[in-house]
Amino acid sequence: MIKENLKKVKSTIPEGVRLIAVSKTKPVEDLQEAYDAGQRVFGENKALEMRDKHAVLPKDIEWHFIGHLQTNKVKYIAPFVSQIHSIDSMEVLKVVEKEAAKNNRVIDCLLQFHIATEETKFGLDMQEAEEILACVGTLPHVRIVGVMGMATNTDNMAQVRAEFHTLKGIYNTLKDKYFADKPEFKEVSMGMSGDYPIAIEEGSTEVRVGSAIFGERNYAKVND
Ligand SMILES: *Cc1c(COP(=O)(O)O)cnc(C)c1O
Repeated sequence: MIKENLKKVKSTIPEGVRLIAVSKTKPVEDLQEAYDAGQRVFGENKALEMRDKHAVLPKDIEWHFIGHLQTNKVKYIAPFVSQIHSIDSMEVLKVVEKEAAKNNRVIDCLLQFHIATEETKFGLDMQEAEEILACVGTLPHVRIVGVMGMATNTDNMAQVRAEFHTLKGIYNTLKDKYFADKPEFKEVSMGMSGDYPIAIEEGSTEVRVGSAIFGERNYAKVND
């Protein structure tokens, strides 16, 4: 089933948009199945789970961290993580800097913005992001490569589209102001199983798709 799902999802994603297969809560057998079908980019939202899966799966997988990252867990993923999509405070970015330095790496990070109306979703506002960007020059082991956001969990697709549009606008503003001469600042990570086609229309470069590939997860979305 995973192979067929993957094929179907991939057929709807244009060139230039990367598919991150969100495999959180799923057993390594499921990830291996997606890998065997050609998928190399996976997303996880728990540091220890990602570390454990990384340890047993093929080494050419790109691991993207997409969940709220606790500072005391950064060390588990710093040796291998490809992108951290969910930078939501200066505090966590400073710890990423420290752990990246220990591993002699530069880690690509995205600033997560709060674009949904729900209170529960993590993320920065423009002012907080600009405070972070004012000191990012002092952090040589992190590289800011884009922005990430999650739309409100609603059937109102006009609202979802407006929220994605807002995130793309935030990206454009930051690009002009801070990254005009930095080609690596190019990622707009938005779109999940229920809304990724809209996200792509609104300018997404990375979609994070889980259940449409791996099937429903057996816990409530609110625990993500
Ligand atoms: C779980 C999750 C996804 C994928 O959600 P689906 O609806 O299963 O596609 C995407 N982004 C984040 C941040 C997630 O936590």
